[in-house]
Amino acid sequence: MSQFAEHRRNQSTKGEIMADSNGAVDTAQLLDSLPTGLFIGGQWRDASTNETFDVENPATGEVLVTLQSANSDDAVAALDAAVEVQKDWARTPARERSEILRRAYDLVTERTEEFATLMTLEMGKPLAEARGEVKYGAEYLRWFAEETVRQYGRSQEVPEGGIRMVTRRKPVGPCLLITPWNFPLAMATRKIAPAIAAGCTMVLKPAELTPLTTYYFVQTMVEAGLPAGVLNVVCGTDPAAISEPLIADPRLRKVSFTGSTAVGKILMKQAADSVLRTSMELGGNAPFIVFEDADIEQAITGAMAAKMRNIGEACTAANRFLVHESIADEFTEKLVAAMEALTVGNGLDEGVNVGPLIEEKARKNVAALVEDAKQNGAEVLTGGGAAEGDGYFFQPTVLRGASTDSRIFKEEIFGPVASVYEFSDEDEVIELANSTEYGLASYVYSEDPDRMWRLADGLEFGIVGFNAGVVSNAAVPFGGVKHSGLGREGGAEGIDEYTEVQYIGVRDPYANQ
Ligand code: NAD
Repeated sequence: MSQFAEHRRNQSTKGEIMADSNGAVDTAQLLDSLPTGLFIGGQWRDASTNETFDVENPATGEVLVTLQSANSDDAVAALDAAVEVQKDWARTPARERSEILRRAYDLVTERTEEFATLMTLEMGKPLAEARGEVKYGAEYLRWFAEETVRQYGRSQEVPEGGIRMVTRRKPVGPCLLITPWNFPLAMATRKIAPAIAAGCTMVLKPAELTPLTTYYFVQTMVEAGLPAGVLNVVCGTDPAAISEPLIADPRLRKVSFTGSTAVGKILMKQAADSVLRTSMELGGNAPFIVFEDADIEQAITGAMAAKMRNIGEACTAANRFLVHESIADEFTEKLVAAMEALTVGNGLDEGVNVGPLIEEKARKNVAALVEDAKQNGAEVLTGGGAAEGDGYFFQPTVLRGASTDSRIFKEEIFGPVASVYEFSDEDEVIELANSTEYGLASYVYSEDPDRMWRLADGLEFGIVGFNAGVVSNAAVPFGGVKHSGLGREGGAEGIDEYTEVQYIGVRDPYANQ
């Protein structure tokens, strides 16, 4: 028996509640309870190789858990399991699927402390934000529990007569879901919940940097009553070895990916060969526009939320602060003061607002963007480099005056760095905001309601937050244009990504045929 099988013997497939009556979680016990293998066909099983990988705490550099690494054979076994139950799952009454999701919502909510602790341990975000993600991630389960029973079709007589048509929604079929490390729970539930609502089976591949939240979530879904084979989870050190054979397999019907634009493009090219349905939630380069008539206090509150949520590691993160020249000094001073009031540290510690970046590579990338900005005219008003500690900490930083040729204007920062630029009129700022290949989130601060519609018309972004610094919600159609992706997650639209419309034409009995 392998060391993993030995370890697993003591585990049930169910996630246990470990918080005591004060809500405190015994982290060692929680980590020890997690499975270390792969979840295929309703069972945790060993990977087919002896390869393993470590999951690290980015705040301390310590290894949290060692997991087994899946290879191509394991990925195909996971697809086999998904294919086997697809037909039965599609025929499961909508009400049953809905109730599984609703139970999962209750269970995840009950286990807020366990989920939040795991996320802080493996991803680094402060505990308060991790609790926020549990709420946000769980809302997808509740939202799609409600949407499951509201999948409508149309009925119509064609204009010429002769045929009556009915449309209906059918599940796309087995899906490959690939998720990133920055929102370990919400990015998974945003895909899994609509797939369950639509009646699709799945192979989920979480990010190898943060798989623990997903593993705990799988245990929760089992307890909520999800039948074996509907959700299968494989994770490993070579993500392409998992995704490539599945994308090439004609039994797979869809790939839904959240991650970088570079990887999204690779997957889209692979998917082209099988004309596979794709949903792509990719990178962003959000403008945060502040007009001269904005309420500056509100704009600063929104700026801090849009920039610093998730340590700046969000696809919606404000990347370019475009501020009207007449208020740029005041806005920048207040932004610097707000950034300097933050506490950097281990997200498990009380009072910490800014955790570590996910890994050393990420910290080096943020530092390189700051250096390049300095070479291109930026002044560092606060921060500017690594912060003290064993983890991958970076100081909250404000830059001003970088040129629009600098890398920091063009690339996703993914860290706690705000870069301020100036503009003088509306047309100029719309052009500046759109001068990027990305088109996910954008933010506009102004007290002029007419401006809202002009900006919404002019901005080439899937999301516009008007006097709102937080735009994510289970009820909204989240997604981007241009190189930020294809498709929408959440909202009434989210389920469309997992359904095919079938049209049935029936001969009209009164027609002369
Ligand atoms: P990433 O592209 O490196 O990884 C995302 C996932 O893809 C991970 O599970 C990874 O293992 C897998 N992967 C990596 N290379 C692969 C390959 N060659 N073939 C198959 N799978 C592969 O992205 P990341 O660093 O984990 O996440 C950060 C990125 O995600 C940022 O660009 C961010 O903007 C984006 N993101 C977008 C959204 C959105 O909704 N648009 C949400 C969150 C994050």
